[in-house]
Amino acid sequence: MNIIMLGAPGAGKGTQAAVLSEHFGIPTISTGNMIREALKNGTEMGLKAKSFMDEGKLVPDEVVIGIVKERLSEDDCKKGFILDGFPRTIPQAEALDDMGVDIQYVININISDERIINRMSGRRVCENCGRPYHIVNLKPKKEGVCDDCNGTLVQRKDDHPDTVLARLKVYHTETEPLVGYYKKQGKLVDVEGQDSVDDTTAAVLKVIEA
Ligand code: AMP
Repeated sequence: MNIIMLGAPGAGKGTQAAVLSEHFGIPTISTGNMIREALKNGTEMGLKAKSFMDEGKLVPDEVVIGIVKERLSEDDCKKGFILDGFPRTIPQAEALDDMGVDIQYVININISDERIINRMSGRRVCENCGRPYHIVNLKPKKEGVCDDCNGTLVQRKDDHPDTVLARLKVYHTETEPLVGYYKKQGKLVDVEGQDSVDDTTAAVLKVIEA
């Protein structure tokens, strides 16, 4: 099963993707996490991406398409995968089609900008493994510490309020047109974002298993 998680930044896609990954036993491919990892390792691609990322802008299509193409060719993707944060532009979606990738579901999480802004201010991630948390909705067992690896939980630079507004603007202009793109292909499944991330995740599983 190949699934795309669509929706604005902060819609809870990462959390839903993690649950679906576990449920179906297939990997999540998160371009955001891959770029952050490259940055941490000081690779050329990571350094090139940094300025775009810090300003809430999209990294150029050819860079992201290249890393996704390489990742999807790895063995663990043969049984299927969840794409989280890719595609984010029409050219990226076209590139995915050109790769001959057969997508079954595009899950579109609907959520208002206001709710996203409120939610993102409370978002934290593990600086070691990237697992997402929220200070109200998705608390770790011990405050400020990752349940999985004991890493420190931090607020990402791109989750700061100004950057969030910039990312939402980019989402509406660059990514939202994908809703129409995948609707036309008959793959779009709309899910209403709920107050609780767990409720949204349950709604996602329900549509996929229906
Ligand atoms: P995310 O964690 O998915 O919100 O991604 C964080 C940042 O990484 C984005 O704001 C972009 O700068 C960059 N990024 C991640 N995925 C993509 C993509 N598919 N296309 C372009 N830039 C991306």
